Amino acid sequence: MVMEKLGKSMKNVLKKIAGAPLVDENLINEIIKDIQRALLHADVNVNLVFDLTNSIKERALSKDIPKGISYRDYIVRIVYEELVIFLGGETKGIKIGKKKPFKIMMVGLFGNGKTTSSSKLAKYYTTRGYKVGIIGLDVHRPAAMTQLKQLGESIGVKVFIDEEEKNALKIWEKNENEFSGYDIIIIDTSGRDALSEELVKEIEELNKLTVPDEKLLVLSADIGQTAEKQAKQFHESCEITGIMATKMDGTAKAGGALSACAVTNASIKFIGTGEKPEDIEEFDPEGFTGRLLGMGDIKSLLEKAKEVMSEEDAQDLGKKFLKGEFNFLDLYEQMSAMKKMGPLSKVMEMIPGMSKVNLPKEALEVQEDKLKIWKHIMQSMTKKELEEPDLMFNRKRIERVARGSGVTSSEVRGLLKQYRQSKKMVKMMKGNPDKLMKKFKGKLPF
Ligand code: GDP
Ligand code: MG
Repeated sequence: MVMEKLGKSMKNVLKKIAGAPLVDENLINEIIKDIQRALLHADVNVNLVFDLTNSIKERALSKDIPKGISYRDYIVRIVYEELVIFLGGETKGIKIGKKKPFKIMMVGLFGNGKTTSSSKLAKYYTTRGYKVGIIGLDVHRPAAMTQLKQLGESIGVKVFIDEEEKNALKIWEKNENEFSGYDIIIIDTSGRDALSEELVKEIEELNKLTVPDEKLLVLSADIGQTAEKQAKQFHESCEITGIMATKMDGTAKAGGALSACAVTNASIKFIGTGEKPEDIEEFDPEGFTGRLLGMGDIKSLLEKAKEVMSEEDAQDLGKKFLKGEFNFLDLYEQMSAMKKMGPLSKVMEMIPGMSKVNLPKEALEVQEDKLKIWKHIMQSMTKKELEEPDLMFNRKRIERVARGSGVTSSEVRGLLKQYRQSKKMVKMMKGNPDKLMKKFKGKLPF
């Protein structure tokens, strides 16, 4: 999980609040210290840490408690709300305008992930139905064009490059007339070791020529607090409109990049969570905080599901999931969708409470060949059996279906077991495993 260590410390803070015999100023001072320690460990700027904890303390001690909520619950809510504000409030992702093409320019220093992020964004928007192209304007790095070409091929997105041309502006001019057929054009630019005058000038010129709708600073999260300085410099000289924080996986210092938004007023729009094209998430402070505090984020799960299913299907499945009503067909759909969503452990983190529940390992493993066998088994079931799985818990039916699908009875039982486990999983979700979720009634985006 992204920022696992911070998440763990913050969950302990909430546990402390929940378990304290008495909620008083002492407890508040204690949790304030815990939060400070946790954020400082995550490399958040010390001033920002104090700003944040001062707000929490001030609100917690004001005793201005809204009706219908206990003091204890109110403090948990304050911690959640202040963290959300700290991470950028309600802003979320990029709003793609109607104007065609919508242009997103990626800027940043060498190696921060501009090119990788260009292809991630291209894939992200392609799967959401946009026609996307990438133009490569990194004329400085020798292999830049080849890298982009390969990435474009791997995700099936058109890239506009020119391996001979050494003037970025000319590459744009040569290709510009082709862009009208595209919804989104992503502009990959070249970086430098530092924000030099030369780089500022280059970005300014490109800015004038391409007139981007969004200028994203690509910032690697593993640089910790340096991120703030970099964000500030880029913001002042190039007027960035947002930040894409990359390499959020595998660093405990991401607090620096996350708080960069506080110093620049350019919020984090996306985060990169791995090297693969699908390792990208729209940054949503509410969902992110919810997950960090262990309250799950069913919304992100559904967002992910959208990439592999149609929106309607995802919503239907989500609803059925939450109601605990699903049959074999849904199970199959869910299994194949989850398989495409990536490692199940990642998906699980997004379901409320799941990160804490110890599930049998088989329930999480979806193997290709297993899915194939299940498909055969399901094809041998009657429509009624598919829709009413309970009927299948019957030896005769199991044997009949096994014969019909050419598998063993134990393979049919395997499917039934999977069904039971998934149902159990759904029940746990439904049963509000995480008490904290209740406390946020109406507040969390479910
Ligand atoms: P650029 O110089 O800014 O264009 O950076 P690149 O896109 O070439 O990326 C530099 C390196 O960072 C590559 O090895 C990428 O695979 C890696 N990278 C980019 N984004 C991420 C991310 O979110 N997570 C991880 N682990 N690696 C990343
Ligand atoms: Mg590059």
